[in-house]
Amino acid sequence: MSGKKLTCFDCGQVNRVPYDKLGAGPKCGTCGKGLMSGKVAEVDLATFEKAVRTDDVPLVVDFWAPWCGPCRQMAPQYQAAAQEVKGAVRLVKLNTEAYKNAGAKYRIRGIPTMAAFTNGKERARQSGAMPKAAIVKWVKASV
Ligand SMILES: [Zn+2]
Repeated sequence: MSGKKLTCFDCGQVNRVPYDKLGAGPKCGTCGKGLMSGKVAEVDLATFEKAVRTDDVPLVVDFWAPWCGPCRQMAPQYQAAAQEVKGAVRLVKLNTEAYKNAGAKYRIRGIPTMAAFTNGKERARQSGAMPKAAIVKWVKASV
């Protein structure tokens, strides 16, 4: 069976999406939520790591925390960037306050920090808040 594996950010189910359906708003076979909605998903650490291990579509994560002003400022820019790369890259955010071991595990020194993953490996990392155009440029150069 051909296609790309995509982890659902809502229920954690791994879906296999045929290539010709990737751009057609594929939905999770288990919960019905969109797999490539262009919306930034707030993920827990377990779902994030499953997606890193499993997914055939590049994944970008924003490590952030609610108390971080620059993180909150960047959030709408990050969301706009996710919409722009919809269908090619999935953008998620991980709350390092809620998942405290994530910061140590991924050696996060400051937030916001974005990291790009393809085929189970981290390919690039960028710290500091950026506007949408710069995020899109970095994402495209990193995956
Ligand atoms: Zn689902």
